[in-house]
Amino acid sequence: MPIYEYECLACGRITSALIMKPAEEKEVRCKQCQGARLKRVLSRVVLHKSESQRLAEFDTRAPQDDSYYKDDRNIGMWAKKRLNELGTDLGPSLDETIEKARSGKILDDMDL
Ligand SMILES: [Zn+2]
Repeated sequence: MPIYEYECLACGRITSALIMKPAEEKEVRCKQCQGARLKRVLSRVVLHKSESQRLAEFDTRAPQDDSYYKDDRNIGMWAKKRLNELGTDLGPSLDETIEKARSGKILDDMDL
């Protein structure tokens, strides 16, 4: 699936977005400051870096608003971070784990 990363021209943070059709790209907003001026970044290095940055800055104990939970990618990130905190090995089954998290099944499998 086409997941693109955007650098916010206002705050410099990287926001990733799933773009299914070109028009959706115009609606991408910075996750940090809601800025609309974003520049697409293509580097894999940037992508990996931002992923780990997001994980590092992500606090699973912090309350999130409703719009947060409407974003599937955030649910996956929550699961990744939570599993990290639990010391769970994030191996090849990670994608499967994330899918479970997105469908809600992970709560049946895990005693969080
Ligand atoms: Zn921003």
